[in-house]
Amino acid sequence: MNTLAILVAAGRGERLGADEPKAFLPIAGTAMLLRAAMAFEQASSVEGVVAVVPSSEVERAQEILEPVRKLWGVTSGGPRRQDSVLAGLKLAPEDFEDGIVLVHDAARPFVDHELIDAVVSAARLSGAAIPVIGLVDTVKRLEGKRVMETLDRDTLGAAQTPQGFRYALLARAYEEAFRGGLTLTDEAMAVERLGEPIEVVTGSARNRKITLPEDVVWAEMILRGERVGRSEEEK
Ligand code: C5P
Repeated sequence: MNTLAILVAAGRGERLGADEPKAFLPIAGTAMLLRAAMAFEQASSVEGVVAVVPSSEVERAQEILEPVRKLWGVTSGGPRRQDSVLAGLKLAPEDFEDGIVLVHDAARPFVDHELIDAVVSAARLSGAAIPVIGLVDTVKRLEGKRVMETLDRDTLGAAQTPQGFRYALLARAYEEAFRGGLTLTDEAMAVERLGEPIEVVTGSARNRKITLPEDVVWAEMILRGERVGRSEEEK
């Protein structure tokens, strides 16, 4: 195996207000976790998929992920996102030091195989690559309720997933981050601390993280729009 994708799906999704873990929430009838996993199934650069889910949901995830032929394993996550990523990393095959590991939020169900393949090729070349999108809003630095300054938008970007790394690099970065007691919001953050270069791949607005109830409404609209588009084409 050369490339393994870890889908982190162990969050409770409290901001979404749903009564089940976020990744199991259906969007137009299909769980987010399966939607995301199918993109990795279609990406030719990926050979294995690992899902990290709440400990109570391992069996259910295995059932949901039945159609994913590349499924390598399902395991339980931990209290923080980084604990869930670590649980996934532990399922990597032996001698995977030079392999590429991708970490993806299952809460980004509209990732596509083109973006996945682009991240894998960039990570193969440089050791680390992440998708980033530009910011449309003017960004302020705040202190409490006071605006302190306007930041230069052209030098800023929003990081998405999948983030891709040579396994040995991410394992070392994670070890250091855990040793330093760092709270990570993405994997690149751990690699940045080592001073290692991280390549930027152009992300996509569609690859949005479903976090709030209005994101679910947006997701349903996107899919409805596509269905209407398809039936118009067929006419
Ligand atoms: O909470 P947030 O939206 O940042 O979560 C991003 C992704 O990380 C989600 O797919 C979520 O399921 C996952 N996660 C996890 N384990 C946690 C917290 C979040 O796998 N303890």
